[in-house]
Amino acid sequence: MPVQPIRLFGDPVLTTPAETVTTFDKELRVLVKDLTDTMVDAPGAGLAAPQIGVSLRVFTYDVDDTIGHLVNPVIGTMSEEIQDGDEGCLSFPGLTFPTKRRERVVATGFNMHGDPVTIEGSALLARCIQHEVDHLDGILFIDRLDREQRKLAMKAVREAEWAGQATPTVKVSPHSTFGRGM
Ligand SMILES: [Zn+2]
Repeated sequence: MPVQPIRLFGDPVLTTPAETVTTFDKELRVLVKDLTDTMVDAPGAGLAAPQIGVSLRVFTYDVDDTIGHLVNPVIGTMSEEIQDGDEGCLSFPGLTFPTKRRERVVATGFNMHGDPVTIEGSALLARCIQHEVDHLDGILFIDRLDREQRKLAMKAVREAEWAGQATPTVKVSPHSTFGRGM
């Protein structure tokens, strides 16, 4: 069952900083496949492991017909130039808000086999990388909104039909039952 349920805002896994991947094994490759399948099914431009309940530093992206993933990502260079535009999140179904991001970023990390990878992104890919790395730090896009937009966002979240449907469990491994439930 590769497509996983996507965790919704309110689930503590989304505000928990994810753990560094230390073992590049089959379990990690299954996680990348599950993330990719779930992202494509949604569909979404990106998906971070905490969004399927796995608190590990891994995300996938699907931007400009390129599907990829990054393990233990670190954003190095960021442009001074800012982009502004609507941004959404699969953990906030149906909601988008204008969110300022850097126009260009360079991220380094690893692929699922443990080889070093560098991704340079501008426009949507840069936005996606910033959004997904934030997820791994337990930061959500509504945290990046200016004050007025954040007020609107919180109101929309309270009124959303999915409000309160979060499933409160956190796993650090995709297939173990170990949990830090709250
Ligand atoms: Zn998101």
